[in-house]
Amino acid sequence: MIPLPLEQLIKELASLPGVGKRSAQRVALHMLQNPECMKALEGKMQAVAQEVKTCTKCANIGLDDPCHICTSVTRDKTRICVVEGVDDLWAIERSGAFTGMYHVLGGVVDAMQGVGPNDLNMDNLVSRACSDSVDEVILALGASVAGQTTAHIIKGRLKDAGVNLTVLARGMPMGADVDYLDEGTISLALQGRQAV
Ligand SMILES: [Zn+2]
Repeated sequence: MIPLPLEQLIKELASLPGVGKRSAQRVALHMLQNPECMKALEGKMQAVAQEVKTCTKCANIGLDDPCHICTSVTRDKTRICVVEGVDDLWAIERSGAFTGMYHVLGGVVDAMQGVGPNDLNMDNLVSRACSDSVDEVILALGASVAGQTTAHIIKGRLKDAGVNLTVLARGMPMGADVDYLDEGTISLALQGRQAV
């Protein structure tokens, strides 16, 4: 019923993260009915493939390698914040609360998904952490089991690196009511209580 090239496009779109079969069909039909949209998308994808580079130092992405954060003269080179993906780096940068360096792991260790420590950008982190100028490595990984497992592995790898290893505080999100929090979050928020 569906012409083969269109079906193949739908299949390709549906394999993208967060896109289901129905949305893929809607997008493919929209593109078919709007050739200018398809052309624009084609050009933009090509530009991304040709111009966007992955930083060989921190695995951030940008127009240059090393990236603008690694080459910045104003950022604090004594601190490295370890994140799972570039989108986490963007979120922290948007907060404006961190002025140090980053290290993008490219995922977390997850046995269920077949991701082991060697599939991640971990060796590079160890060599960066061992450099004289680094005092602190901040683990800004998710609070999931995979995130915690990854943090544990990094702790083992960095035990002789001579750096302070810290993790982000866990607890109450901004604007949240106590009765909406799950038991795990309440328990961590109580453990992390501070004097007022
Ligand atoms: Zn970089």
